[in-house]
Amino acid sequence: MKLSSRTERGTDDIELLGRMIRPLCSWFADQARDLPWRRTRDPYCIWVSEIMLQQTRVEAVKPYYSRFISELPDVRALAACPEDTLLKLWEGLGYYSRVRNMQKAAAVIVQQYDGVFPQDEKLLLKLPGIGPYTAGAVASIAFGRAVPAVDGNVLRVISRLTGSSEDILLDSTKKHITGLLEAVIGSTDPGILNQAMMELGALICLPGENCSCSLCPLQNLCVSRRLGITDRIPVRNVKTKRKMERRTILVISDGIHGALRKRPEKGLLAGLYELPGLEGERTEEEVLSYIRSLQLEPVRISKLPDAKHVFSHVTWIMSGYMVLVEELKEKSGNGLIIFETAGGETGFAIPAAFEAYAKYLNIKKGREALLAASGPSEVG
Ligand code: SF4
Repeated sequence: MKLSSRTERGTDDIELLGRMIRPLCSWFADQARDLPWRRTRDPYCIWVSEIMLQQTRVEAVKPYYSRFISELPDVRALAACPEDTLLKLWEGLGYYSRVRNMQKAAAVIVQQYDGVFPQDEKLLLKLPGIGPYTAGAVASIAFGRAVPAVDGNVLRVISRLTGSSEDILLDSTKKHITGLLEAVIGSTDPGILNQAMMELGALICLPGENCSCSLCPLQNLCVSRRLGITDRIPVRNVKTKRKMERRTILVISDGIHGALRKRPEKGLLAGLYELPGLEGERTEEEVLSYIRSLQLEPVRISKLPDAKHVFSHVTWIMSGYMVLVEELKEKSGNGLIIFETAGGETGFAIPAAFEAYAKYLNIKKGREALLAASGPSEVG
């Protein structure tokens, strides 16, 4: 069946969205999850939760959110927080540029707005790390402004509801859907409507073939359901292909201490702490030669299982080695940061990309645990 064009649909879609509001908001009032950030209208708390929820599941965000708000309860505290403490609070959430931008934005709010969040979404949009979605969410939920907050969930719900075959990865589609919502959002509580659409997308109108239309408050209005095309909508024409990079990761220890180093201040995982490593897939001999170049004396080397980590634009394919060395010390020029492994806690923010190997530094039995790794070979 041929779907109608955008211009043919325009006013019909606005009318349909108008009819969506009452059943959707009533469903939200009954079924919304009780989430910590829904118990407040404090723009700071809503902002923190929205940034954390980008690319991270609700259940995973909850403990991070509580800890973050308890340690840094307002923009002044965030603006003044030392970088290492901030990154530690974010450790495991990934996409660290998000929290760095939050701190920059907090500094602007303190300096330019005397620590008070601006209400106007156009002013919010000028803050570092705040795009149209976050500006819409904060402005509508905290201040009741009639601004849509269009994320992936909302794009999916509205595309399906209206039966749109437009590619949701295109900016033009996002603008079009934002425009449709702008036409109706002023007729209700904008914060509730935005959250209700997101909640429906998160709980009922799920991606792929997983939507639970029989539980949906919009089932009698939904064009995709009527046409039996919910599995084909939304359309996403993915064009980009992720780059693959091979790396060799080194777990260096003397049985009591482990070694980290700081990543460069620019680029992927900028300024975070990592396990030392080399580009490419390296042999045992190449690794040992590198270890000696760090002025360390290797005792044993063991191959660790391969691992993979997917970033948004690149995938790391990692091979790993555990290297037991004689006394591990910070020496001038080797760039290593040495820490005691006994507590299993480094005190440094180590990105999730290194998770598969960082676990080998949680050494509580001392030297034996290192030597127990598979297939160790003596270094002559
Ligand atoms: S009826 Fe189904 S496809 Fe339509 S909005 Fe509801 S869950 Fe989504």
